[in-house]
Amino acid sequence: MKKPAIAWLNVSIFSTTGLIALLGVPYYAYFVGFDLFTLVASFFALGFCGLSITAGYHRLWAHKTYQAHPILEFILAIGGAFALQNSILHWSSDHRVHHKHVDDNDKDPYSAKMGFWHSHIGWMLRDYQTSHGTDYNNARDLQRNKIVMWQHNNYLALALGTNIGIPLVLGLIHGEMLAMFLTVGVLRLVLNHHSTFFINSLAHVWGEQPYTDKNTARDNGILAFLTYGEGYHNFHHIFEGDYRNGIKWWHYDPTKWLIKACSYVKLTSNLKVSPESRIEKARADMLLKTSKERLLKLKKMANYQEQLDKLQQEYENLMTQLNDYYDTKRRLLEIKKKDIQDRVAQIDLHRELSKQCDQLKQRWRVQKKQWLAFNQNLQLVS
Ligand SMILES: [Zn+2]
Ligand SMILES: [Zn+2]
Repeated sequence: MKKPAIAWLNVSIFSTTGLIALLGVPYYAYFVGFDLFTLVASFFALGFCGLSITAGYHRLWAHKTYQAHPILEFILAIGGAFALQNSILHWSSDHRVHHKHVDDNDKDPYSAKMGFWHSHIGWMLRDYQTSHGTDYNNARDLQRNKIVMWQHNNYLALALGTNIGIPLVLGLIHGEMLAMFLTVGVLRLVLNHHSTFFINSLAHVWGEQPYTDKNTARDNGILAFLTYGEGYHNFHHIFEGDYRNGIKWWHYDPTKWLIKACSYVKLTSNLKVSPESRIEKARADMLLKTSKERLLKLKKMANYQEQLDKLQQEYENLMTQLNDYYDTKRRLLEIKKKDIQDRVAQIDLHRELSKQCDQLKQRWRVQKKQWLAFNQNLQLVS
């Protein structure tokens, strides 16, 4: 089959920036050196781009796992243009296709089954999606979002403005124009690109599959460290509506921490989490499957059938206990909620009655005064 035409713009961007990062940056570091200001500025620029993609493009717009205040949306939209990964609309539309048709070589734009290179960067080096770019019919919701559409319609200006403007301004402030161009301009861009690309490539190859093996996605703590928490990709592919990727508190997921922290100052709201019972069940189902497969290899073992039955029985028991626990917990929460509502209603009733009481007492006193005065007048007349 004839391969699609080469996408020269992408090829030149990736190769030029890649070469500068690989050769120019170490050369400058060795012969001139970067000072602390330059390194700190690069660190923050990298974080700005990285989190705009993970918290913005990915978890906010592609998956709608929470809602964001327009101020935050605006900041994330700018950071996304700075990351030079196409517009929110285009990126999210591609990503929704990836989830819907994961590993389908004909439909998944960066199918891992096409190999590491293709899923990492190859899919962007040739014009694989000629029809794409005008439709976006899987992102109608985003087409109604003013900030998303503003960023989409002004993407080129925003991308150039941030990628040239930010290193330029920092260079003018600091007086090290070339150093800023190499680090905040290029190295930051290349690191951000490849850490994002790792999610499509490495996170579909390297790591564990504790939740599902129906697709190639993997959980990988090391990758999570390099990608602001996106490395828990096996969990993400099964619970894509969850604002977290690393669900345990010790999981390294700065994107989750940022979204949660912003909720305390009302910049984010409606943070969605998957029901704990479904997460636990997915884990148990997966473990049952792998244990059965392991047992199957020991088929010649004398008590093979007995072990298999025992495994199944333990699983059934676990499911019963799990359902009992979560049903009871749900009922308890419902009662607690009702209790609080009742208490609020009681407080309201108490407040209303005491207000009425005060008013009636006042009226009664006035009437009593009038009554006594009238009687006194009567006595005087008689
Ligand atoms: Zn996703
Ligand atoms: Zn994926």
